[in-house]
Amino acid sequence: MRVMPDSALAILYKLHKVDSALHGIRMRANALDAGKEDSEKLKAYMKETDSIRAAAKSASTKARDFESKTEETKEKKARFEEKLFSGELTNAREVENVQKEVAMLGDILETIAANAKEHAQGLPELKKKAKECEDEISVLQKMIVKKRQIAVAAHERLKAEYQVQVKLRPGASSLVPPALLNQYENIRKHHGDSAMAVITEEQTCGACGMHVPEKAKVLVNADRLAACEACRRILFAPVPDA
Ligand SMILES: [Zn+2]
Repeated sequence: MRVMPDSALAILYKLHKVDSALHGIRMRANALDAGKEDSEKLKAYMKETDSIRAAAKSASTKARDFESKTEETKEKKARFEEKLFSGELTNAREVENVQKEVAMLGDILETIAANAKEHAQGLPELKKKAKECEDEISVLQKMIVKKRQIAVAAHERLKAEYQVQVKLRPGASSLVPPALLNQYENIRKHHGDSAMAVITEEQTCGACGMHVPEKAKVLVNADRLAACEACRRILFAPVPDA
């Protein structure tokens, strides 16, 4: 004999199905990957590569400084040279002073050039390394954005599913006899998920796998209360849908 669809257990089972669906949706929502792990990875990677990226940045700045200093000095030297040939210098002492300035600026230019050359030696390698780091960071950032977008969309879908199920709950629970509902809620609170379990074809508890004794099956089929001996969930044997 099978339980009739309007039996107390069948009515409770309908509520159980709603609660199971709600629980499932919550679990799926909790398991969504919003890129948290990748964010941690990115943070660690940025920290790890911070010194190399900072070094490349300051080295580039220094190279630009050499260039502007060279330009500046060249212009200054050209102005003095102009003076030498302009005919505005009237005495030998003035000429000598300007010549000294020109020579000094020439020395400065040589020093800058030597320093810039030395500085430029390690620069390409450093820049290449830093570029690799920046590229990796960019890849991680894009992946995180993508994952977040996917998770947000999935979360929206789950929210809609949840709202459908949650609306079914008051109607489903109002039909359950109060004492049975009370017991059901206590077991549900204890497990944090489901309070009912289906007896499998192998005659085990569908939730925990414990063997279900024949007498429990007889009780269930008579629409009487029988709990799993291991997990205490209310046992049920639903009528096949077809
Ligand atoms: Zn069980």
